[in-house]
Amino acid sequence: MQKDIQFKEISIKVIRKDIKNSHLSVYPPNGRVILVTPKKTRHEVARAYAVSKIKWIRTQQAKFKGQVREYPRKFINRESHQLWGCYYLMKVNYKNEKPSVTLSNKYIILTVRPGFGLIKRAKVIHDWHKTLLNSFIPTLIKRWEKKLNVKVSNYSLQKMKTKWGSCNKASGRIRFNTELVKKPKDLVEYIVVHEMIHLIESKHNDRFIKILDKHYPFWRDARSELNKLPLAAEIFKKN
Ligand SMILES: [Zn+2]
Repeated sequence: MQKDIQFKEISIKVIRKDIKNSHLSVYPPNGRVILVTPKKTRHEVARAYAVSKIKWIRTQQAKFKGQVREYPRKFINRESHQLWGCYYLMKVNYKNEKPSVTLSNKYIILTVRPGFGLIKRAKVIHDWHKTLLNSFIPTLIKRWEKKLNVKVSNYSLQKMKTKWGSCNKASGRIRFNTELVKKPKDLVEYIVVHEMIHLIESKHNDRFIKILDKHYPFWRDARSELNKLPLAAEIFKKN
């Protein structure tokens, strides 16, 4: 009989095989632990081996958790923030002047009035994100309108929980997730192209894939990179 191992909060599935050495693995996305061990190894020995690796298991599991869930930001000094695929440290200045955000090679410098709480600080950053996207996305739309021979009637930006973008084929409107500002620009372009192809084909069917393959042959890499980076969202959800 195959007995699994439980050590505190960690469950380890044990698989017996015709092998020489035990092998322990932690799998994404939930950090599931599997121990493959030789058939003749006694359960106590397998357990002792797994328990000796608990620290490593916890580290691996923490890594996966960090990948799928982003901790809520507080917009305070020395907090790490992403922009266009790079990491910056936040620097907050409290000054009696119009709130602003500037970028140096290492810092995102947020200037707010004394007494600005978390929600107000977050809003200043969110507005800044919108400004940045608004200075980037229209160029992409123009370029791809020509290539795809489509017309975007209007686009909007908003925080979205599960998608990077969405498209209404009938009205020609496209919505983009403001979180895109954290991703490398080529991945933002992939989302723009993806949503614009929905103006031709609303479903993720063969026709859609064919158009995507033709115009953006590296879309599979782009998609897996977007899903791997923090704040992963299922971008192939049905609209
Ligand atoms: Zn889609």
